[in-house]
Amino acid sequence: MTITQKLNLLLEEEGAGPLEKADGRAVFRALLRLTGAMLAERPQLSGEKKLYYISAEFLIGKLLSNNLINLGIREEVAEALEAAGHSLSEIEELEAEPALGNGGLGRLAACYLDSAATLELPCDGVGLCYHYGLFRQKFEELKQREYPDVWRDRPGWLTKTGVRFPVSFPGLTLEAVLYELPVSGYGGGLNRLRLFDAATADGSIVGEGIDFDKTDIARNLTLFLYPDDSDEAGRLLRVYQQYFMVSAAAQLILKELKDAGHPPASLPAHAVIQINDTHPSLIIPELIRLLMAEGMAIGDAIEAVSRTCAYTNHTILAEALEKWPVDYLEKAVPQLMPIIRELDARAQAAAPELAEKIAIIDGNDLVHMARMDIHYGFSVNGVAALHTKILKETELSEFYALYPEKFNNKTNGITFRRWLMQANPRLSDFVTSLIGEGWKRDGNFEKLAEFAEDRAVLERLLAVKAENKRELAAYLAEKEGVEIDPDSVFDIQIKRMHQYKRQQMNALWVIWKYLEIKAGRLPKRPVTVLFGAKAAPAYTLAKDTIHLILCLQELINGDSAVSPWLKVVMVENYNVTWAEKLIPACDISEQISLASKEASGTGNMKFMLNGAVTLGTLDGANVEISELVGEENIFLFGKKSGEVIDLYATEGYRSADFYDGDPEIERLVDFVISKQLIRIGDPENLARVYKDFVCKDWFMTLLDLREYIEVKERMLASYEDRLHWAKMALINIAHAGFFSSDRAVAQYNEEIWRLKPDRSGR
Ligand SMILES: *Cc1c(COP(=O)(O)O)cnc(C)c1O
Repeated sequence: MTITQKLNLLLEEEGAGPLEKADGRAVFRALLRLTGAMLAERPQLSGEKKLYYISAEFLIGKLLSNNLINLGIREEVAEALEAAGHSLSEIEELEAEPALGNGGLGRLAACYLDSAATLELPCDGVGLCYHYGLFRQKFEELKQREYPDVWRDRPGWLTKTGVRFPVSFPGLTLEAVLYELPVSGYGGGLNRLRLFDAATADGSIVGEGIDFDKTDIARNLTLFLYPDDSDEAGRLLRVYQQYFMVSAAAQLILKELKDAGHPPASLPAHAVIQINDTHPSLIIPELIRLLMAEGMAIGDAIEAVSRTCAYTNHTILAEALEKWPVDYLEKAVPQLMPIIRELDARAQAAAPELAEKIAIIDGNDLVHMARMDIHYGFSVNGVAALHTKILKETELSEFYALYPEKFNNKTNGITFRRWLMQANPRLSDFVTSLIGEGWKRDGNFEKLAEFAEDRAVLERLLAVKAENKRELAAYLAEKEGVEIDPDSVFDIQIKRMHQYKRQQMNALWVIWKYLEIKAGRLPKRPVTVLFGAKAAPAYTLAKDTIHLILCLQELINGDSAVSPWLKVVMVENYNVTWAEKLIPACDISEQISLASKEASGTGNMKFMLNGAVTLGTLDGANVEISELVGEENIFLFGKKSGEVIDLYATEGYRSADFYDGDPEIERLVDFVISKQLIRIGDPENLARVYKDFVCKDWFMTLLDLREYIEVKERMLASYEDRLHWAKMALINIAHAGFFSSDRAVAQYNEEIWRLKPDRSGR
């Protein structure tokens, strides 16, 4: 049967057919059933040992195209729809993006699930089935407002299973209900994303925006990802959430061990648990508790769990290394405290001279999650070469001295199926026409470098980019009502809003460029600066920065003398779907974090793969990008990580010195509270941004601002040598192969997980 015949049959069954007559929603449902049935025929990957990738987030994005590609039927489906007067991209708009993640670490988890299934490694993702995710972002009066991100009541792949586990808190036992999403590999087999929901969770308790009663645990537990932790009730809720996730996960893992006929003590032989950042860390004491309940002695239980768990560190920002007061844990999970105390006592006894630095429970009665992971996991990995080096030498040096054999690096990766084949079919086809399709499996683009001097190839590469830019411009015009010039330079910064990522530095550049244009110094070519970012609801300065950018957008786009030369567009509700639209159209990839602060970044890799040129600091994986492409194919600026670390150690940075000492910097910072902006925006919010620049600037924006402006000017000038620019873009693509998540997952497997690919089903 052809795809058209199959779809017709499915549509007839629903009384919605035939394909030419059916409306988009019916076609989407038919595609859902078609792919669902094809996926169900795939062998579930299994083996002697299985990986449980446990994470508070899985930023998986929409699944229709991904599944069609992985099933090898995307083209056929696109053609069948086309022939019947539909378009696949319009049908895709009907799918809700699952609200299960927030940023880089959640997207990483999603890429790793895709790669594990592609490499035929038995691996399930385990997490929570949030009703409303982080939040849906709306801009109202030039400010971010948060609303529930409703996604589960739309048709999709999520299914409810009959599996349930009890999870007990003092005076309250909740039921964890298991939901599943299929995870398809490219070709290959099938794994699952397994998500727990609280049976009693109840969205009707959400009032204004995303407000709800934080103490009503039974009803609020799985509504939102990272609920506001600015008060004690919110912090306690996070502990409840974390325990709910890990207790259900631990019960699932032990049940599968038992169902396979293995004794509890054999856990390390049959399971490996990758703890993605510290949110799931309580799985260590919880598993020990459950193994003891099965009759194991505490020492044996600790030993078994330590040989099963591995930890990935994602950040060196002190505020993100979770520490919970003993009080909270006594309140929410008292059954774990005796175990945590025992783990702490054993860790301290092993290195009494370091006790203060390595204690799980410190002198202020704070429980350090990462420390528990390091003492009682068998592997600790950073996510880029520089990040792992900083962990070893600075942040975790005492632990590295204690356990050198545990530390290893696994530079992050991205799946090329989603981030090239799906997001950028034009470039994908063009690359294939030059080097064949081997890259879809082996991630090798090196052969592209042979075309670096080939004028016809470079011109076609520019044409592909130009087409993508026109497509994005048309989409923005249609969906957002903003007009942008497809011939302008597309300069894009999309990532979570955080001071260390320094969107505020880009905003100061926008101010600089605005003032240049006002003074009659026009750029050679117009520039369109695109932003996308959500700010955590309680992160005041991040929300203020969004306000600043939206005010600049209002000011600049509304000024007819400036807007032909400069535009600012901040897209609303940045998510994977937006990333897939923006990245293929990008010229300049903004990766400007304060050196030493961005663990890796993965956005930088997606842009490189799509032929954008990086403007960045030597931070995270930018370091590896610059080594791969060579310094002539990347635009670097700013202080190096070593200098920054020294500045923090010596308290040697004072932003006021830069503000007072450089009239140009003073002029740009002052503009934040200028009459023009105050007229548009909220003086209170703008004043806070201004004050932070002058008095604090913890992430040292002003330190690198001058050089940023200089290098960006140089970059814009070099854009005018179109063939040279195309060559840089081509070299970037040619060396992007290292950042395939297939490479990363293969390394995790060889060096940490040691699973055998499963070929049983064939
Ligand atoms: C890749 C990705 C990120 C991570 O971006 P960074 O620039 O590495 O911080 C965040 N959000 C979404 C939607 C992404 O696709």
